Amino acid sequence: MDFSLSKEQQLIKDNISTFARKELNKDAVSRDRDQEFSKALWLKCADQQLQGLPVENEFGGAGLDPVSTIIALEALGYGCTDGGLNFAVCAHLLACVIPIWKYGTEAQKKQYLPGMCKGTMIAANAMTESGSGSDAFSIKTKAEKTAKGYVLNGIKTFTSNGPVADLILVYAVTDATKGYYGGISAFIIDKNTPGITVGETFEKMGLRSCNMCELIFENVTVPESAVLGAIGAGAGIFNYSMEWERIGIAACHVGTMERLLELSVNYAQTRTMGNEPIGKKQAVAHTIAGMKTQLEAARMLTYKAAAGIDKSRENAINASVAKLFVSEAFRAIAMETMQIHGGNGYMTSYEIERTLRDAIGSTIYSGTSEIQKNIIAGWLGL
Ligand SMILES: Cc1cc2nc3c(=O)[nH]c(=O)nc-3n(C[C@H](O)[C@H](O)[C@H](O)COP(=O)(O)OP(=O)(O)OC[C@H]3O[C@@H](n4cnc5c(N)ncnc54)[C@H](O)[C@@H]3O)c2cc1C
Repeated sequence: MDFSLSKEQQLIKDNISTFARKELNKDAVSRDRDQEFSKALWLKCADQQLQGLPVENEFGGAGLDPVSTIIALEALGYGCTDGGLNFAVCAHLLACVIPIWKYGTEAQKKQYLPGMCKGTMIAANAMTESGSGSDAFSIKTKAEKTAKGYVLNGIKTFTSNGPVADLILVYAVTDATKGYYGGISAFIIDKNTPGITVGETFEKMGLRSCNMCELIFENVTVPESAVLGAIGAGAGIFNYSMEWERIGIAACHVGTMERLLELSVNYAQTRTMGNEPIGKKQAVAHTIAGMKTQLEAARMLTYKAAAGIDKSRENAINASVAKLFVSEAFRAIAMETMQIHGGNGYMTSYEIERTLRDAIGSTIYSGTSEIQKNIIAGWLGL
């Protein structure tokens, strides 16, 4: 078992973290304050192929294997202090680009992937509804068959990238008698299609530069060619995208945790209290040693889950284990970083309070920690 990165992977990691540090962090404080999504920075990310990491070159992507993809996202999380921008890229790539790349027809891939990889087409994944969050498949949005295709009616909520999206991957019930395996289908829909309106836009605690809204579908007519995969295949497509999302966002968090650790070590070495650096006080040093241990465990779980993508259906348990551990560790490390930085950490001019607010959401989206435990227990036969 070799835990080292290949030369190519190390290069990807170095290049993306250098790019992110240099290009993406200016004005992160004001973007967070103003809930501003930056299309210019989004396009810079696309220039680095971040929105199409695993997609083949012929469709505009970087053609990376899953582990290299995950290492690239880790580098983004390390270098970019704008957690909302990182989240916007991840939501687009992991929950929209990847399912279209994996399940799309040749025609769909040619139509959508080049624009999605180039960043000119922003996508949003619309699954959650007000009555169905954790119980994701109890959605009520319906897609009814007509002579020309399907007509969709329903309201989606908490749609990340929704306000700025050009394209929406929508999950809807196509046969209520079949339950979620067989009864739910995925549709790729242009957001300008008549009948789609943006409902409430949400002000969030964290990830504020990634915009979020409700999307209302009223008699939205789409052709047969809008179906992704096959009618009734929606649950499998959603689960596959969640496997990638849980691992990919965890990787981004691992990168951010590394940055928080470095900030904490640096502060503990340079901030003196009572004639010695605070890092010489065992309470602070032990906290940082615990952070390092959590970070290393988080990285290994994430890499292991990434290495299992597309190898076996059972990798879903590895994705949930990684998601559960990394998101809980991310919250804890963000909180500890704040404590180590004292009053300075609490001030908005530092990145720490923003990263803490960003970290809180990580145990909620892509399935809460409780849902990850349910999934893990289910795979263990409980
Ligand atoms: C920042 C952010 C971004 C998001 N982006 C998107 C997006 O792009 N697209 C999208 O479709 N959705 C998105 N969501 C929605 C997200 O997937 C849901 O918020 C999440 O699945 C939880 O659902 P809920 O909010 O309805 O909470 P609920 O399901 O109401 O859960 C409330 C509490 O009850 C617990 N609970 C519920 N059921 C169980 C159970 N069976 N066992 C144990 N505990 C349980 C939960 O763990 C939680 O603690 C996003 C959410 C956030 C916060």
